[in-house]
Order: sequence, then structure tokens, then C-alpha cells
Amino acid sequence: MHEFGEARKAIEAMIRSDNLEGLLQHAQALHGHLCPMVTLGVKAGHYAMKYLEDPNTGMEEIVAVVECNNCFTDGIQAVTGCTFGNNALIFKDLGKTAVTVIRRRDGRAVRLVVRPDFREYLFDKYPAAGPLFDKVVIHRQATPEEEHRFQHIWEAMARRELRAPLDSQMQVTPLTQAAPEYARIFQTVICHRCGEGVMAPRSIEVDGRPTCLTCAGRPVHMLTGQGISCGGAG
Ligand SMILES: [Zn+2]
Ligand SMILES: [Zn+2]
Repeated sequence: MHEFGEARKAIEAMIRSDNLEGLLQHAQALHGHLCPMVTLGVKAGHYAMKYLEDPNTGMEEIVAVVECNNCFTDGIQAVTGCTFGNNALIFKDLGKTAVTVIRRRDGRAVRLVVRPDFREYLFDKYPAAGPLFDKVVIHRQATPEEEHRFQHIWEAMARRELRAPLDSQMQVTPLTQAAPEYARIFQTVICHRCGEGVMAPRSIEVDGRPTCLTCAGRPVHMLTGQGISCGGAG
């Protein structure tokens, strides 16, 4: 018989059986590449899901509050099943590589934060990676050969860090915390200028008629690699 939320069964099984390699492979398909931070996201998600015990069917019964939008976050989304689209991924714009995963029914929660010296620890452990990281990622001035070499080293590091002790990478704090409110379903209104449907709280009245922020030329909040900012016209 078909069961609701069955799609995550294989992932839940990997969580329960500590199949970190399988989880990393799954995260890689979402993230597009392997890197140490996606590995850390996978490990944080794995730890949290085991700690909270309940499976996640993407109905906000488990909520992940992330404090960054970097590679770590994709590991979290892939493993916990709390995603941008199912409203169980909450973004707190704190600029910390950290996550709090909460079980809604009783507020059981755990916060995992990557150690502040993790990058130094990583580059001490893998000395070839540091200079390449600077060239490829920071300055974007690497030759194709250097890029290729970097990708190999970075992937090898991602796999090795999967087996490194969790406490060398993250601090773990058990908590009790209420989950944010359930996502609300809002009415859709039609913008009188462009004719597109708009969630009612994101429309404004212009000449007494509903108008989207783009047509009204109003600034909008955007989540980019710089975090959330209120930028140019919608
Ligand atoms: Zn990455
Ligand atoms: Zn419009």
C-alpha cells in the first residue's frame, strides 16, 4: 500500500543505519559537487535526525533553522528533508555555519555549529588545499589544471572528513525550543498591471487596485550569497 511520505524511506533508512556515504551521495546530487562543508551539513543532519528519532515527511513536523546559505545548508536539506519548498527550512540571517533542528511535537531540538577554527584545522590537516583554495575560490584566478587539482583534493577531503570525529568539526548543544509557526496559506490576488497571481501579503494597492511589487516599483527582500537584503525594485 502506498504510504504518505514514503519517498524518504531510503534516506531515513540510511540515517538509522549510519550510512554516511549514502547520505553524502544523495546530498551531492542536490549540491552538484562534493566539498568539506556539504559533508559537515550531512553529518549535522544525520546527527540531528538520529537525535530527534522521528521520520520527516516534509509536513513541517521537523524544522531546520539554518543560519547561513552555504554548502553546509544543502547537506542539511538533503538529509533532514527540511527544504526551502516545504517551508521546514527556516533561514535566520546570522552568517554562522550553524543549524538548529527542532521536533515540533515537543520542542526537542539540537543545535550544531561548525567550530570557529574549522578552516584552519582543515588547511593544517590538508596543506595542499589552502593555496589552491585561495586561487580557485577566493580570487578566481586559477588555471584549468589548478582547478582540476583543487576539485580532486576538495572531494578527497569531503570523503575523509565524513569519517573524522564529529566533535573535531562541530559543537553540539541539545535544547528545547518551540518550532516557528506553521507556514500559512494566503489568498492569491491578481496584479492589475501584469496579470500575474501574487500572494496577498506581497501585493500593495496602487490606485485602489492590487499590484505586485515589481509593477509598483517597490524594493523587495532578496536572499542572495550576501544574505538577505532589501534591494532594488522587484
Ligand atoms: Zn560545496
Ligand atoms: Zn505585476
